[in-house]
Amino acid sequence: MALQICPKCKENSFTWFINGKTQLTTWTCFDCDYEAKEIEDEKSTCEKCGEITKTKLKDKEKEYWWCSNCNTISDL
Ligand SMILES: [Zn+2]
Ligand SMILES: [Zn+2]
Repeated sequence: MALQICPKCKENSFTWFINGKTQLTTWTCFDCDYEAKEIEDEKSTCEKCGEITKTKLKDKEKEYWWCSNCNTISDL
């Protein structure tokens, strides 16, 4: 599947997997090892591209919106 732009290091190295224990979709960057969990049922329409691909991600420090289509990041 296509790689996405990592919200942290901005490299084209961001991809996801399903965590076997929690069954949560986890996004991870193989460039900088950044990791964030996707909060399911929290998809929203992206203001920028108009697709329903705006996803809530949660990492160690914060939660934020991230669009998996156009890679726009916005605060909650
Ligand atoms: Zn990264
Ligand atoms: Zn978008």
